[in-house]
Amino acid sequence: MEKIVSLAKRRGFIFPGSDIYGGLANSWDYGPLGVELKNNLKARWWKKFVQSRADMVGLDAALIMNTKVWEASGHLSNFSDPLIECKNCKHRFRPDHVDGIIMNASITGEYGSGVGIGMDDGTRIFIKEETKCPDCGKKFDLADKPRQFNLMMKTFLGPVESAENTVYFRPETAQGIFVNFKNVADTTRKKLPFGIGQIGKAFRNEITPGNYIFRTREFEQMEIEYFIKPPETEAEWSEVFKAWRQSILDWAKDLGIKESEIHEYEVPSEDLAHYSKRTIDFEYDFPFGRKELYGLAYRTDFDLKNHNLDYTDDEGNKFIPHCIEPSLGVDRSILAAMCSAYAEETIGENDVRVVMKFPKWLAPVKVAVFPLLKNKPELVAKAKEVYNLLAEDLTVQFDDNGNVGKRYRRQDEIGTTYCVTIDFDTIEKDNTVTVRDRDTMEQIRVKIDELKEWLIKNLK
Ligand code: ATP
Repeated sequence: MEKIVSLAKRRGFIFPGSDIYGGLANSWDYGPLGVELKNNLKARWWKKFVQSRADMVGLDAALIMNTKVWEASGHLSNFSDPLIECKNCKHRFRPDHVDGIIMNASITGEYGSGVGIGMDDGTRIFIKEETKCPDCGKKFDLADKPRQFNLMMKTFLGPVESAENTVYFRPETAQGIFVNFKNVADTTRKKLPFGIGQIGKAFRNEITPGNYIFRTREFEQMEIEYFIKPPETEAEWSEVFKAWRQSILDWAKDLGIKESEIHEYEVPSEDLAHYSKRTIDFEYDFPFGRKELYGLAYRTDFDLKNHNLDYTDDEGNKFIPHCIEPSLGVDRSILAAMCSAYAEETIGENDVRVVMKFPKWLAPVKVAVFPLLKNKPELVAKAKEVYNLLAEDLTVQFDDNGNVGKRYRRQDEIGTTYCVTIDFDTIEKDNTVTVRDRDTMEQIRVKIDELKEWLIKNLK
């Protein structure tokens, strides 16, 4: 993990937020390469799940919504995590983020020695005797009774900081979709089943953010609400659920994640979110442990019902559609893709190259263009010409610094798929360039006239 964080900072993928002012805990800024990576990710998702499907449309709703939305959706009363405080250092934690604490502990459970505590909402946690505070390392004693902490991030609209001006940043993009359900259904005349996809920021006042960009208080989601007729049998919604489950697995594979790195966790009924009848968490083996990457939930008619929204079919039947929600975190996708792509390869004798083996579509830079020598104006001029030609259609970098071997290493480290070198043969002989492949390191010569076409074909 340290290697990835350091590479990401050194090469301009991800910087610590507000760095020159000492940073802001758990906030991160995407640099020049990070933003390319993120844009490629979001564009692929949009193309795959919104534009190329006849049963999907897109949306981009406001971040701050009428507070009534959050009352109706249940977020103001239910969107909370349990919070505990260490008696010694006074730091606060989400109990399921502390090793040695069992959530939803049964009264009769056999957990060894320790203490079981009930919370106001009826849930019970068990703190094993040997549990240590993750921050101060002392034996974990509770400062106070555990309580539920609402994760909604608050602000005020307008100059007066009053109760009636209090609003919330959305904790999920989903509600923007639900409240627009009728607008979308009426304007697009889509018939069920159909879905609405949205990409955007969400905010949660997480108790224990951390693990780099894995858990932050400001993050981005790619969500779909897929609406179906109220199912009469379990099979009717299960089939749709299954199809989306497969789509998520296919997406993870497309991202460069190996099948063995992803694990499905069927969330037990007592742990389900307040709106869900069934949820699968898709977990990934991050360097800091196996954790949730994506979620898939059957939200029933919970949301549309609470917003008093319904649908009338062609036969004039009025009903409330149900929905299945595949919810994908953008930042967690980026982190998983970076972890899966990172490789150290021994080449030659005792030589190691670091290479980010991103899938081609995801690589932030597609092609790097080098003049063989930077002090030969004719090579530099030709290389600039090639750069300009390619930059019209591809993300290209120009590099004339250091020897070509070093330049290859620099490009490997950021995952550039092809390096194009302009040498003396280019200008003196046959107008061809060397194209070097990131993964195989093989080099071939391609005519400049055919170069763009060759690259576009091979980048597919
Ligand atoms: P967790 O149990 O890790 O808190 P969650 O189950 O609350 O996550 P969901 O509400 O299902 O998460 O959110 C959907 C997706 O949004 C997650 O699968 C994840 O990819 C992303 N996500 C949620 N919370 C955060 C966060 N604090 N930082 C970054 N991404 C997040």
